[in-house]
Amino acid sequence: MSEKHNHPKDEEHHDHDHCVESALQTAEALCLEQGQRLTKVRRRALELIWESHRPLGAYQLLAKLAEEGFNSAPPTVYRALDFLLNAGLIHKVESMNAYLGCAHADRAHKGYFLICDECHNVMEFDYQDIHSSLIDKAKKQGFELRAETIELTGLCAACKSAGEAAKKAAKDKS
Ligand SMILES: [Zn+2]
Ligand SMILES: [Zn+2]
Ligand SMILES: [Zn+2]
Repeated sequence: MSEKHNHPKDEEHHDHDHCVESALQTAEALCLEQGQRLTKVRRRALELIWESHRPLGAYQLLAKLAEEGFNSAPPTVYRALDFLLNAGLIHKVESMNAYLGCAHADRAHKGYFLICDECHNVMEFDYQDIHSSLIDKAKKQGFELRAETIELTGLCAACKSAGEAAKKAAKDKS
């Protein structure tokens, strides 16, 4: 029996194909609406970022695109990333210096993240309440807000329950 999961447990609990499919559909609809082109490299970059709920670094993306025979010169890849960021289709997770697909690309928002230390999955959490209270408090201080980065680290529900189950198993054995 292997104790260490290499795949995030999260992926066992939901249909990830559905995440990818709906992300690509949203991307196509958004591009159409804004008169932009979801070029092959942009589309593939988005798909690769969506391979899991773990953020992907620019260099990892670059390597994957190169493997598939895309023009993977850094400027091409960074332009694709910029495009996806500006379109709101991905977020940058600053503390990991990596990119995460956004499941709510059809509504404007900033990404606030819960980062699991164990499986490195990142979840977005609801932003609207926190956002308005932040804006409010900053305003009261006379502070003009330019960037918001909210990244909380810890254990996700799946890793937490896996950890508890492992502890219980060890205890039962002794
Ligand atoms: Zn998923
Ligand atoms: Zn988002
Ligand atoms: Zn986890």
